[in-house]
Amino acid sequence: MVRVQEIPLRKIHRPLPRQTDPAKVATLMQSIQLIGQQEPIDVLEVDGEYYGFSGCHRFEAIQRLGQETIRCRIRRAPRSVLSMHLA
Ligand code: ADP
Repeated sequence: MVRVQEIPLRKIHRPLPRQTDPAKVATLMQSIQLIGQQEPIDVLEVDGEYYGFSGCHRFEAIQRLGQETIRCRIRRAPRSVLSMHLA
């Protein structure tokens, strides 16, 4: 089951730090300011907690723009799926 919803940035755990390309983030910031976030980021929902592993550039761009929420495509999953991502 998948749903799309705005989630506060501070509620999304990002267990794996990823390198972002500052130029890409800057370009995305401009675009998001102009036309909004066109594509949600993917998050897992495990026991009511949200985990993000991708969409790092969108996450950082929206964070830097000072927005409190980000549009997410949410997939509920058992904890075993989360463990696979962390392995
Ligand atoms: P990310 O790490 O967030 O996936 P990428 O640079 O790899 O960053 O890809 C940019 C993504 O941001 C694309 O999937 C694109 O569809 C999405 N996107 C969402 N909103 C916008 C926007 N306003 N302008 C440009 N791309 C956007």
